[in-house]
Amino acid sequence: MASKRDYYEVLSVDKSASNDEIKKAYRKQAIKYHPDKNQGDKESEDKFKEATEAYEILSDDKKRSQYDRFGHQGVHSDFADAYGRSGGFNTSDFESVFGGSGGGFDDIFSSLFGFGGGSSRGRTKKGNDIRYDITLTLEEVALGKKTDIEIKKRDTCEVCSGSGAEPGSKKSTCSTCGGHGQVRRAQGFFSITQTCPTCQGSGTIISNPCKSCKGEGTKVKSKKISVNIPEGVDDNTQLRVTGEGEAVGGGNPGDLYLFISIKSHQYFVREAVNLFVEIPINIAQATLGDEVSVKTLDNKTVKIKIPAGTITGTIFRVRGSGIPHINRSSSKGDLFVIVTVETPTSLSSEEKKLFNELKKISENNSTPAPKKPTKVNW
Ligand SMILES: [Zn+2]
Ligand SMILES: [Zn+2]
Repeated sequence: MASKRDYYEVLSVDKSASNDEIKKAYRKQAIKYHPDKNQGDKESEDKFKEATEAYEILSDDKKRSQYDRFGHQGVHSDFADAYGRSGGFNTSDFESVFGGSGGGFDDIFSSLFGFGGGSSRGRTKKGNDIRYDITLTLEEVALGKKTDIEIKKRDTCEVCSGSGAEPGSKKSTCSTCGGHGQVRRAQGFFSITQTCPTCQGSGTIISNPCKSCKGEGTKVKSKKISVNIPEGVDDNTQLRVTGEGEAVGGGNPGDLYLFISIKSHQYFVREAVNLFVEIPINIAQATLGDEVSVKTLDNKTVKIKIPAGTITGTIFRVRGSGIPHINRSSSKGDLFVIVTVETPTSLSSEEKKLFNELKKISENNSTPAPKKPTKVNW
């Protein structure tokens, strides 16, 4: 995908713009680039889509704050690749934006241009997305995690199968829209399709509502969902579980977003697929060389050969002992072992004797020769 423009830039508004300013800015662009006015002009269509997408995100407080914190990553699933899907705003979303099945775009437009009709409560709308937070340890990141989570959400009523009509009763066709669920209105050069205000887009009227859900077609229920978190996920990412959001009577369900956060580890620091750990060695080991054992994240022991004359900050690389790559778990990053040479602060009398001896036989270093520092940003 080509690099995405910043949403604020797309709408030419300030980062601190109010909802009203965002709305006005979108309205300006929507009028300019609306496909009805620019038939067959691909560039206008792209501009229109871009502005609509920006508006979708920035007009929603939750999505906007996600976007402010994490950028495009925050509002589009990072794991699209891993799951072979496109990002959060995919082609079929665009289709619905253009009024194919009613919903999103009509709602945006009618609210922008002040058409009433309560279409924002339209029944053909997509259900709400829901958020579920999951915290993983670094070990779980390395192995991936299958887990069952329990979420509370609005789901299809089992008594009426989401129709909202009492079983056995019949629905009648809405007379306002003739069952289409939408009505058209001409407004200047626009021809605007609106969700039918009488039937909220369902095309039918329920005369005998389902008692179990009071005609809503949905009820709040608990649901257990098995989620499979792939190996190698990053902190602050979202995994989308398509269709596990809230249901709406007759419409498509929303999506479930798993917000992943990763606990800080006692020893290991992660950077992308690599891990870093520090191990202290003593002056004798650093001077004479030694072999030390280091535990990896998956609890294996690796031996590291410390050569004679090793200095603090020397890094040893253990290939393949890092974190798996997100979409090819057979390949892993590396473990970097950083050696620090520790100066002893408490000595046994035996050690003191030996160090004294060492000092005596070492070259006199009371006037060390100065050197130019290589590092100055202390
Ligand atoms: Zn029902
Ligand atoms: Zn209707």
